[in-house]
Amino acid sequence: MEEKSMETKRNLNPKLLKQIRRVEPYVPGEQPQQKVIKLNTNENPYPPSPNVARVLKEMDADRLRLYPDPSADVLTETLAAYHGVENDQIFVGVGSDDVLSMCFLTFFNAEKPILFPDITYSFYKVWAQLYRIPYECPKLDPDFRLVKEDYYRENGGVIFPNPNAPTAIYEELDFVEDVIAHNPDVIVIVDEAYIDFAGRSAAELIDRYDNLIVVRTFSKSRSMAGMRIGYAISNPALIGYLNDVKYSFNSYTMNQTALVCGVESVKDDAYFKESVEKIIETREWAKTELTKMGFEFPDSRANFIFATHPKKDAKQLFEELKQKQIYVRYWGSSRIEQYLRITIGTRAEMETLFAALRACLAAEN
Ligand code: PMP
Repeated sequence: MEEKSMETKRNLNPKLLKQIRRVEPYVPGEQPQQKVIKLNTNENPYPPSPNVARVLKEMDADRLRLYPDPSADVLTETLAAYHGVENDQIFVGVGSDDVLSMCFLTFFNAEKPILFPDITYSFYKVWAQLYRIPYECPKLDPDFRLVKEDYYRENGGVIFPNPNAPTAIYEELDFVEDVIAHNPDVIVIVDEAYIDFAGRSAAELIDRYDNLIVVRTFSKSRSMAGMRIGYAISNPALIGYLNDVKYSFNSYTMNQTALVCGVESVKDDAYFKESVEKIIETREWAKTELTKMGFEFPDSRANFIFATHPKKDAKQLFEELKQKQIYVRYWGSSRIEQYLRITIGTRAEMETLFAALRACLAAEN
């Protein structure tokens, strides 16, 4: 229905329409311009390292006359050293969305369907459709856990986030390794957007499996969603193929400011660890508070909690919170229509959220 009305608006001759690559785009969470408590897009409530602010201030605008380094060497080298890999094992992009999109284009070219869970990051389906990649979505089990055996059948590639989004469930490394080991002839992408809040990373397995790509972002644990930096870690061969595709698309994906600020963030490891630790601490406290109010949720290992209340409709709660200028994320899609995804904010923001939730729940009784 929606698509039809959009097309009427665009009012195109059907012959022209036939030639257009039409897609149903990803819908990002709202970015309200007024001041709200924003717990809807898993951003970090703390600022990036003060060193990032310093280099931003010191930046010479004259440098912007020149193109940035197309191979983004300073950032790639810094990340390689940080992860203890070679420089040719890192690929950087404009947020992990850019990196993931490049990975879809580069690696998912078998005619067989790629596999990702039915409940997961909704951009995967959009890229598959955009690039005309067939896909199938094995169902998470009733507790929203991945069923690893579902990924052992013939396929054209596998992708899943760990921790998964929006469930926040983390699978241990041996589980992830089983999926990689059972798929030696296709590429397996582990999207680790939230790994810093969780546990061991699949990056540990890079040397052992030539079919593995691990994707990371600066948007969550590094508080730099607005800067748009993401990267992939893999073996030199796969990184080489990614670069070939990138250079066939846009040589200068990383702007000069992002390169400089990204390096500063990685160098300030103490600040990074402290900020991640604060979020984990707030998350653990938030779990207790939500449980006290009767909410139920899978155990979160990310910077968000995916919660449902047996006595209160999620959509109604979402709207009531919005009226109180508190934004959380609600999808209303199949199997998750009674769930809200709540990003972990500062303790003060969470206190305001909990007071609002208590008021909403009290009004119901
Ligand atoms: N993967 C997952 C699982 C995500 O939730 C997000 C955030 N929307 C991304 C990737 C993309 O993040 P970014 O492009 O900001 O790195």
